[in-house]
Amino acid sequence: LFTFDEFLTHWAEDRPDRVAMREEGRVFTYGEIEDRTARVASALLAAGLKKGDRIAWIGKNSDLYFTLFFGAARAGIVMAPIGWRLSPAEWAFIVNDTRAKIVFTGPGFDGVPQQLAGRLDHGPRIVGADAARAMIDAAARIAFAPSGRDDAVLQLYTSGTTGNPKGAVLTNTNLFGLRKHSADLDMPYTKWEDDEAVLVAMPCAHIGGTGLGIMALAAGLPGVILAEFNPDGVFDAVEQHGVTRFFIVPAALQMLLLHPRCGSVDYSRLKYILYGAAPIPLELLRQCIQMFGAQFIQAYGMTETTGTISMLPPEDHDPEGNKRMRSAGKPLPGVEIRIVGADGAEVPTGEVGEVVTRSSNNMQGYWNLPEATAKTMTGDGWIRTGDAGYMDEDGYLYIHDRVKDMIITGGENVYPAEVESAIYGHPAVQEVAVIGIPDDKWGETVKAVVVPKPGMTVEEDDIIAWTRDRIAAFKAPRSVDMIAALPRNASGKILRKDLRAPYWEGYE
Ligand code: ATP
Ligand code: MG
Repeated sequence: LFTFDEFLTHWAEDRPDRVAMREEGRVFTYGEIEDRTARVASALLAAGLKKGDRIAWIGKNSDLYFTLFFGAARAGIVMAPIGWRLSPAEWAFIVNDTRAKIVFTGPGFDGVPQQLAGRLDHGPRIVGADAARAMIDAAARIAFAPSGRDDAVLQLYTSGTTGNPKGAVLTNTNLFGLRKHSADLDMPYTKWEDDEAVLVAMPCAHIGGTGLGIMALAAGLPGVILAEFNPDGVFDAVEQHGVTRFFIVPAALQMLLLHPRCGSVDYSRLKYILYGAAPIPLELLRQCIQMFGAQFIQAYGMTETTGTISMLPPEDHDPEGNKRMRSAGKPLPGVEIRIVGADGAEVPTGEVGEVVTRSSNNMQGYWNLPEATAKTMTGDGWIRTGDAGYMDEDGYLYIHDRVKDMIITGGENVYPAEVESAIYGHPAVQEVAVIGIPDDKWGETVKAVVVPKPGMTVEEDDIIAWTRDRIAAFKAPRSVDMIAALPRNASGKILRKDLRAPYWEGYE
């Protein structure tokens, strides 16, 4: 099985009455989802859309989103979900980029037509949530040619951490590849038992949200959908809906930990917590391992690789000083990962370079950006991740940070994530980001931007001394700023470019 059409048809025959999707009060079985997605495909084709056309979604996570996406994908119509937290100008940028024929909006987003007015340079239809549900209910099923394995079905925009978001074009093979790669690993945590349920907690505009919905479908399990991440929603899903696994970003893990309910939730059915998308501070990971009974799995990957390409398995999450806790794990079966230097040649084991990867999970390319595609994808199937990292003797990958975020101070390379991890352990520090700022003598110096814990104060000298006790002196910050909150994008990633900007004015 390798396409949406195949999976939906298969589960509808195998387990028509099993829950496929649950969101708030709405529950749909695999039988119902098969029928509703066939009607979506029928309605879109009847409205004149063809294979390869784009549709877009602006809204929170919703059963309606997944029904529209899966249905369109069956017919090879490409869904482009757009982050609802973006501004209307950013929505318009992406809608214009997709050339979508129809923009669907989620519940609560009826104001989108006004917000987009005057900003679009083509004329898509904008269809509200009630109208979309009515369209599905009223549509008659027609026979259609299902999309093939290598047809595009999803256009997912990168998070825009380093620049404008780019549309990664993903096929059926890309999207169901993770399922195959992890099944090939054949470990307890990659076997999905029949009584499991999966929580979609991260935004559907990112692979960590949409990807989990696809994983639930691929496994024939219930996908429990949270409209947006909130700790209560996660705790309720675990206690009441039998959720056994979810994916979450480090910033969201911290929000769970800080929540007053966290210590009293019944986690007995929760088996696995997958985390990733940004470096996790070691201390946060330790606290999580103590708090939740679940086993932890780190995932490393990017939109362009349809998510996960390496995993740090539960057995490497030993809080007793296990050095592998800093690793992003080993490549999945079927995924090649190499570390290369500036000249593109592989560097020796243990040396830091750029992470490059090749597998059937690599995207087709960026939509309408031939130059960016050529820069990122080498002719022979490799993707340049833009991440700096190294591989140890045992084949474990260590991600240091973006190549662009590396700080060069007095000729020494400093990776922000390592410094942040050291500072994070300070008892008065809630969050921290480390950046390089210009310096006439050293080229750059290390600066830490710290969010103190509520009601606590912390001195610059104290942070510097704390860090020097733990890592090499040249890596410790020369200066520390206090700030109320760190700028982050909707994927929970720290926007270092925003923190850096004021210091680099006139330099770059
Ligand atoms: P843009 O490409 O638009 O600047 P982005 O790279 O943040 O945005 P995504 O595709 O959502 O967009 O994120 C992929 C990046 O996230 C990776 O390149 C890597 O830097 C980071 N990342 C993902 N997983 C991990 C992890 N486990 N540890 C550290 N960093 C990670
Ligand atoms: Mg990127």
